[in-house]
Amino acid sequence: MHTLDLVAPTTAELVAAGLQLPVMEAFYTIQGEGRFTGHPAYFIRLGGCDVGCVWCDVKESWEAAKWPVLSIEKIVEEALANPGRLVVITGGEPLMYNLDPLTQLLKEKGFTTNIETSGAHPYSGDFDWVCFSPKKFKKPHPSIYQKADELKVVIYNKSDFAFAEEHARLVNPVCELRLQPEWSKAQKMTPEIIDYVKSRPNWKISLQTHKFMDIP
Ligand code: SF4
Repeated sequence: MHTLDLVAPTTAELVAAGLQLPVMEAFYTIQGEGRFTGHPAYFIRLGGCDVGCVWCDVKESWEAAKWPVLSIEKIVEEALANPGRLVVITGGEPLMYNLDPLTQLLKEKGFTTNIETSGAHPYSGDFDWVCFSPKKFKKPHPSIYQKADELKVVIYNKSDFAFAEEHARLVNPVCELRLQPEWSKAQKMTPEIIDYVKSRPNWKISLQTHKFMDIP
């Protein structure tokens, strides 16, 4: 007689399936950037990023193994404890993971789902709003261009304007275009961004308003 050995899936297998995810932090705050600026939102910051932006302000997110791995049920239960029903999934680079199960569960519970991504990995998930912020340090995966609702390019120096235009040519025609000064270069670059947007009105300015308000 054969006995069927039932082997429980490992954490790595559950993470690969998107049923468990490393969470660096999750918190309820006000979205400070882009189209949803000013909206109360629950941020889920997933651990892990292989993009390597030199000016990254969340470098502690890069190493996924540093962060607790939570089930998607637990992640959603914690989101439900807040009155707002807008969730922003960020990182790190959240598309390193299969986001289908988490976003399906969030939507079943009535959340609007937004993502902020560099697009460096294949697209997954069921999102109501995709904020695509490409980075020079790792080329975006082609799957992001038709999914992006908003192209948000961080302007660190002058060459980033050409980089922004390069990506604007690839997104779909209804994608909203935004330029955002990198925080440490804001004083130098904001006047240039203002002039740029005034002469090319298909672009808008995005500011990190949460930093002015001193909230996370
Ligand atoms: S993609 Fe985001 S988290 Fe990753 S290095 Fe760049 S700024 Fe940091």
